[in-house]
Amino acid sequence: MQYKELVNLLNLYSRKYYTEDDPLVSDAEYDRLYNELVRMETEDPSVISPDSPTQRVGDRPVSDLESVTHEVKMLSLSNAYNEEELQHFINTCLKEAERELKFVVEPKIDGLAVVLTYENGVLVRAATRGDGVTGEDVTHNARTILSLPLSIDYKEKLTVRGEVYMPVKAFERLNRQQAEKGLKLFANPRNCAAGTLRQLDSRITAARGLDIFVYGVDFGGSRFHHDDLEFLRKLGFPVNPLIKQCADFSEVWALVEHIGSVRNSLEYDIDGAVIKVDSKEAQDILGVTIKAPKWAIAYKYPSQEATTTLLDVDFQV
Ligand code: NAD
Repeated sequence: MQYKELVNLLNLYSRKYYTEDDPLVSDAEYDRLYNELVRMETEDPSVISPDSPTQRVGDRPVSDLESVTHEVKMLSLSNAYNEEELQHFINTCLKEAERELKFVVEPKIDGLAVVLTYENGVLVRAATRGDGVTGEDVTHNARTILSLPLSIDYKEKLTVRGEVYMPVKAFERLNRQQAEKGLKLFANPRNCAAGTLRQLDSRITAARGLDIFVYGVDFGGSRFHHDDLEFLRKLGFPVNPLIKQCADFSEVWALVEHIGSVRNSLEYDIDGAVIKVDSKEAQDILGVTIKAPKWAIAYKYPSQEATTTLLDVDFQV
């Protein structure tokens, strides 16, 4: 396929996936084509088009929800697909930060990113990531998530990032109800979560049982990411219990493998593990690319989806 053709195809898939919650192909097929695009752009950077999906995060939101401009751009993550690529990421961080580093390994929850703003200890806004610059206001729906604290014992302004997801059991219950009513089935928990969080009527959202794990906070009081997570835990936020600090690559790899081995027994879908540099000072030194932080990477487990297209699957959000 020609470069431009591939850009256009991936942009179509992105629009259907992010804006309409209605994917045309499996994630594995999307990733295969995306990696082909990356290969073309690496071989000849002069071809890179500004509308290439490698040059932007997600897609522009188009809905009846209010738009929200993020104070800090919300980024995506770069990917590693095998042990060597993960080792290369760790080595590059160690070399560029020029210091000893620890890492934090977290399950990569397969849902959608939200940014939560607390003022005077009260949740005042929840917004989707959108294209990283502009998201949608989903405060009314976030308030229905029972595990999310609506007020916290911290009065300064706080911005918390997390992943809203549809628990597997809630997803299966919903699809049973859809089938009983003779309605279309939901494609997968991720798209079901995205469609549910973006409902205009929060009664529909409340009935479907979304949940959340938080994984980041703009907090000046700690020097390490794992301390940020502890701070969030103490404030009452749901932080994933599988998250651990790791001293070196062998510990990172052991935990990545462990998370992969328990993947099928979890109550939520994950599509990878996220590996982050623990020191926030080192994170600042490493910086970000146009699309993703250089201090974190998503290790993608081999896909459990069939690589066939979803074109003829009957589903809705
Ligand atoms: P991504 O979902 O691969 O990774 C970034 C996201 O990971 C973050 O925005 C955050 O929401 C999430 N995340 C979950 N747990 C996290 C944690 N512990 N720490 C930090 N972040 C965490 O990136 P993306 O750019 O949103 O989407 C790209 C992926 O979406 C592709 O790899 C593809 O699989 C899928 N996609 C599929 C289609 C399709 O048509 N099927 C189209 C577009 C994209």
